[in-house]
Amino acid sequence: MEAWEQPIETGGMPEDGVHFDVIVVGGGPGGSAAAAYNAMNGNKVLLVEKEVWPRDKICGDAVGGKSLSHVKELGVLPMIQATPYYQVDSIVFGSANGSEVKVMLPKKSYEAKGLMSGFALPRMQFDYMMFKRACELVRENGGSVIQGFSVNEVMSEANEDGHRITGISGKIGSKRSEGPELTFTASVTIGAAGYNCPVSRKIVELHDEPHKDNDHFCGGYREYWENVKGLEGQEGPIEIHFIEEVLPGYFWLFPVKEGVVNVGIGMLISEQRKQKGMKKSLKQIQKWVIENHPRFKERFGEATLVEGSEKGWQLPFGSPRKNAPSYQPRRGAMAGAMTVGDAASLVDPFSGEGIGNALLTGKLTSSHFNKEIHSDGFPLSAATAYMEDMWNELGGELSNSTKLQRMMKMKRLTNWFVKKAAKKPEIGEMMSEMIASKETQKALWSPWFLFKTLVLP
Ligand SMILES: Cc1cc2nc3c(=O)[nH]c(=O)nc-3n(C[C@H](O)[C@H](O)[C@H](O)COP(=O)(O)OP(=O)(O)OC[C@H]3O[C@@H](n4cnc5c(N)ncnc54)[C@H](O)[C@@H]3O)c2cc1C
Repeated sequence: MEAWEQPIETGGMPEDGVHFDVIVVGGGPGGSAAAAYNAMNGNKVLLVEKEVWPRDKICGDAVGGKSLSHVKELGVLPMIQATPYYQVDSIVFGSANGSEVKVMLPKKSYEAKGLMSGFALPRMQFDYMMFKRACELVRENGGSVIQGFSVNEVMSEANEDGHRITGISGKIGSKRSEGPELTFTASVTIGAAGYNCPVSRKIVELHDEPHKDNDHFCGGYREYWENVKGLEGQEGPIEIHFIEEVLPGYFWLFPVKEGVVNVGIGMLISEQRKQKGMKKSLKQIQKWVIENHPRFKERFGEATLVEGSEKGWQLPFGSPRKNAPSYQPRRGAMAGAMTVGDAASLVDPFSGEGIGNALLTGKLTSSHFNKEIHSDGFPLSAATAYMEDMWNELGGELSNSTKLQRMMKMKRLTNWFVKKAAKKPEIGEMMSEMIASKETQKALWSPWFLFKTLVLP
């Protein structure tokens, strides 16, 4: 059995009613990072996770450079490098008419700039290492970890700020399991339980604001396949295809280790609802592409599906909401609570990446919470500062990605862009820089730059 397929020892159960500095709900990348960074600041943290490790998470499994800087800071990078993973050295973008452009992410030149190009490895493996490291840091700093604990209720009380979140209650096992309901309180509760996080739902409910929005939530479907032609080895490209049958979504092929490829489709839920006939479910579309698409059927000719890997999940995008009632992309904090990652709706609307923003916001919570200053509870002013900081940090790139996402819906424009990019090396270089650096992302939207690179021969 591999190291990441074994149980994780999380220690004894805290007594019912114990008070913590920080409670973190959810032990995915965002929750593990929030727990780890807050524990590193000397806080007594309670980390609770519904599942019991080892556990899977439905994902494309690509871990970009933004994620890797946190993975390194938390001491998880050597753990990953000691296991099998796929080193991403480039991204292939394909358009509806069959043009392709390969954008290089050369490891050496990235490293020279202090950046990392990216890995792909099953989330079963990645999340295991993140959670394990978080457990060590939490327990070293006097905190506790509970696995198999499902949060059923997020508690609040009325105060001078309106309401304040005070803690959580839940059970070992599922909501309906027999065990006793246990309650824990904290100065701040961090919601990191993914797209349907009970903390983020409570925050918007108390403010009478919306949580789910089908124009900003994406459906995602993934399968693992072995022996897909053109993606052998442990280093090489990941592929994103804007093919006709999948537009306005995209079809991806992300190798995760030698001989195994994560294959999937993502599409906005509002767009998915408009599809008819064969295009009704992402699973059906994927089956059709693999069996019939002229560019893919031959590549899957000798490939085999890993049984049981066919699963779907949702991606809450960080695209700015039209007429948002308060904060962008959604109210993500209040007195006594902050949310991170998918719980804060922060998935990149163009690439579908969410791990990086989950880790980044996990860290950001630790710079806004201070156990001495906030011993009487995390106030509304600090929650507001957190939301403003988060949008200052991520709003620009999430807005740019939203524009790109909308542009890719226009088939002719995508065809033209990819064809142009394939012919002009400087567009490939610009896209490579854009993936690595925020400065270049800003430059991309300068009209002169766009005119120069795209329109001039
Ligand atoms: C099909 C698909 C493909 C994707 N591809 C990529 C990709 O290639 N690269 C990328 O960067 N991102 C990708 N994403 C997005 C990425 O998966 C998420 O953004 C990322 O997992 C967010 O991390 P998180 O910690 O915020 O939430 P999650 O990873 O969802 O973790 C939440 C945790 O909370 C736990 N939990 C839930 N409810 C409770 C409860 N009530 N009590 C206690 N615990 C609870 C869950 O068990 C889980 O462990 C993809 C998503 C999908 C669906």
